[in-house]
Amino acid sequence: MSVSGVTVAKPFDGTAPDRPMLIGGQWVEAVAGEWIDVVSPGHRGLKLARVPRAREEDADRAVAAARKAWPAWRDLHFKERQKALLQIADALEKAAEDLAQLTAWDTGNALRPQARPESQTLVNLFRYFGGIAGEFKGTVLPAGSDQLQYTRRESLGVVAGILPWNSPLMIAGMKVPAALAAGNTIVLKAAEDAPLTILLMAEIASKFLPDGVLNVLTGFGTEVGEALVQHKGVDKVSFTGSSRVGHHVAEAAGSRLAHVSLELGGKSPSIVFPDAATDATVDGLLTAMRFTRQGQSCTAGSRLFVHEDVFDDVVGRLVEKVKLLKVGDPLDEATDMGAIINQKQFDQIKNYIEDGRSQSGVRVALDGEGKVPDGLDGFYQAPTIFANVDNSWRIAQEEIFGPVLVAIPWRTRDEVIRMANDSTYGLAAYVWSNKLDEAIDTANRIESGWVQVNQGGGQNIGQSYGGYKSSGIGREFSLEGAMESFTQIKQINVKIG
Ligand code: NAD
Repeated sequence: MSVSGVTVAKPFDGTAPDRPMLIGGQWVEAVAGEWIDVVSPGHRGLKLARVPRAREEDADRAVAAARKAWPAWRDLHFKERQKALLQIADALEKAAEDLAQLTAWDTGNALRPQARPESQTLVNLFRYFGGIAGEFKGTVLPAGSDQLQYTRRESLGVVAGILPWNSPLMIAGMKVPAALAAGNTIVLKAAEDAPLTILLMAEIASKFLPDGVLNVLTGFGTEVGEALVQHKGVDKVSFTGSSRVGHHVAEAAGSRLAHVSLELGGKSPSIVFPDAATDATVDGLLTAMRFTRQGQSCTAGSRLFVHEDVFDDVVGRLVEKVKLLKVGDPLDEATDMGAIINQKQFDQIKNYIEDGRSQSGVRVALDGEGKVPDGLDGFYQAPTIFANVDNSWRIAQEEIFGPVLVAIPWRTRDEVIRMANDSTYGLAAYVWSNKLDEAIDTANRIESGWVQVNQGGGQNIGQSYGGYKSSGIGREFSLEGAMESFTQIKQINVKIG
């Protein structure tokens, strides 16, 4: 296959080839020669490829390559970095369908509702950060005619970008072009469960970059991920994943005073006021819950607070809509919901569903059990909605990361805001109301990094994005976030005359 004169691997052709990793412009195996099987979540037992099981010595090689490449990349005029990022955006766009199909194989995310938008977001992010590459600039203080006092926004050096499996291309899009535009070099660590799209992205992108500017390692978090976090040659760790691992990464990187940003888990509230019990709200709730990503989204509005006057009505209408979602083969155009990533995650979701069923007073408004699509052997879980949930229950407090929604009735605004904030997480929130003052007052009082009013879609490129509390530290996605995350400020004061 050829993309803009670049030969890239096919999405998946029925064979299970070895897919090496990228270090210093070379496609290499792990030093120890070990491999990890990559299996398809939608087709249990189907081996898609093998990727190297990188360990500490591979982290050393990748960091050394990135350090070597850094000074020349850093010292380029921004136009050169811009040109490369925009060329990459064009090449990725030509390969967008292949990237989307590989995403469906690799992650289990359904092609139409999720994988295609995800690969397009990657393209858009390269284009956005390419476009603003000249904006990583400093300031001049009006300090009198005998002084030149200015700041430089300098790159940090080598960034380690650690990725989760749920939407690898989108998360890589938040880190790679931003870090590169600012003049850093990067070592990406792909998630062990879904590394293939990241390797394909790197195969395309590396054609436009000097050797060592972008490196990709595959392997386990506790092995090569840990080695990167601990590595003295890594100036910044940009981590996206669970809050549990994020706390550890913060400690380990913090102990050597490396820069760190963390995009972590969520249990985001969706608050419906009585006057907003409309069809548009019900559609929005379905989107906000990220059912078409199997609920495997950090921003899923997975705690639904509905005013008691409209509780049965809203939950009933939502159940009728959600019931219509077609769970099936991620590659099938008709599929609305694909597969759960792996056995461990699948078992964990079942465990939460059992826990929810066992609570006294709970009502199973939509039962997802036993609705596995015919003839498919994969990790399929249909949506489950629990009603009359108490906010203190485990299913209301912990991130399930599956298609399980809990609905909680409320009476007063103060009460619902208190319950919404009664969470260790603070990533996203959704407010549904037709009264401006009530919507804005609620949005202002919610302890989350991102609140949406009367809409439930995903992040818009250029907006601020990041968490409060255990949902993270730092911001990505925006110019301001990238300046904060991928540069440091140097002040230079010059006496003139
Ligand atoms: P995870 O924390 O298990 O793994 C994330 C990455 O960290 C993987 O690449 C893994 O190999 C690596 N890792 C694991 N242990 C490590 C260690 N000791 N040192 C360094 N790296 C290590 O998370 P996951 O299961 O892959 O992803 C799901 C989680 O990610 C959910 O909690 C979800 O909410 C969160 N997430 C957050 C965002 C966000 O933007 N806030 C986006 C996507 C996913």
